[in-house]
Amino acid sequence: MDMQIVTPGHNIVTDSLIMWGIVSLLLGDACDTYESYVEGIAGRYRIVIKDFKSQDFIRNFEQWVDRNIPQLSQAFSEKKRKSLGKYLAGRELSRKLDADTRGGVVDAVRRIYKEKHILSELSSIFQENHIYAFGEGRGGRTDFSAYVPISGIYGKYLTGPFEYKDKPYKLCELCLLFASIGLEHAGICVKKGAEMTYGILGFNGTTQINNLGFFVQSDDWRRGGERILRNAIGRYDASLTAMSKMFIMLASIPSEDRHKVPHLDWYMTVFSYEAGGAKRVTSFHTFNINVILDFIERIEREYGLFYELISSLLSSKDVIQNGGDDAINILSELSYTRNLKLVNKFLRTLRVITDRTKGRIKDELLRKLSRNLAKALMLSCEFYG
Ligand SMILES: [Zn+2]
Repeated sequence: MDMQIVTPGHNIVTDSLIMWGIVSLLLGDACDTYESYVEGIAGRYRIVIKDFKSQDFIRNFEQWVDRNIPQLSQAFSEKKRKSLGKYLAGRELSRKLDADTRGGVVDAVRRIYKEKHILSELSSIFQENHIYAFGEGRGGRTDFSAYVPISGIYGKYLTGPFEYKDKPYKLCELCLLFASIGLEHAGICVKKGAEMTYGILGFNGTTQINNLGFFVQSDDWRRGGERILRNAIGRYDASLTAMSKMFIMLASIPSEDRHKVPHLDWYMTVFSYEAGGAKRVTSFHTFNINVILDFIERIEREYGLFYELISSLLSSKDVIQNGGDDAINILSELSYTRNLKLVNKFLRTLRVITDRTKGRIKDELLRKLSRNLAKALMLSCEFYG
């Protein structure tokens, strides 16, 4: 059976995650992944599915449940949503959600599991009018909210003439499920204390579902970036701009994976969420990232140690206190603007850092400084635009 669905149009984060979630359940045997395709259009996605096999799709969902909520049968007798979070055993998804959201996700899965057949009716559920048909949106009537980790929005209040109402943005259980699966597979997440920082990829343009597989079937492409950021922010207290975080995530994608990224108009939304007592979104930015991917590609043509250099500059308290994070902030700005002055500023900062650091880090940095680096950086500014 062929079918077509469209994501609801909640916001670029939730819609991208829903798309990633649906794609990850379609991969495998649930459709013809070469003939099926996704079209990103201004923050929404049209997914055209050829040869959809609903039984395989439902089986992929069941396997996802087995992995993430193996004790689901016990969760059915639980009365309070707050107590449901403990059933979410999947480590990858758990670490990316705050406590309130975990309970909501398990509750949504519990409801869908009882009526699994609705998963075979996606084409009638995800149509243009989904938000209205399912009572979603600001002040909607569903039982689930667009939790911050899957939306980046924490405006609880609806502003109208002469009134402020406490009206959360509502979602149906399927939106919550698919967005959560998308977050598990394709979301980048780094924690520092109670603050979580997320990086969510989205795109405009059309590509086969098969081309998107490596983003959701393996975490190789994001593991390096998450590790660097976790240490830099979480352990060494580096001060990195949102742009730098995005830059590190992209520069850490192994080149063999980067070469698999289909040619599309890509963007990444980076947002931070203070998930402790006073919940709030502390930053929210969307970057066009093709320009960054092009920069990294150009640098690596001339200089093969780029990832190692970035990694070294954020690899200890010592190097960060001596300006490692400043250097990365300059580099990420350069990748966006291609301003030649920033090349000199970066190289000067690098020299200061190597002068001031000691021991292993100093040796590491010295080994990575070669004339090719300056050449690569300068070439990246040429003929751009
Ligand atoms: Zn929905």
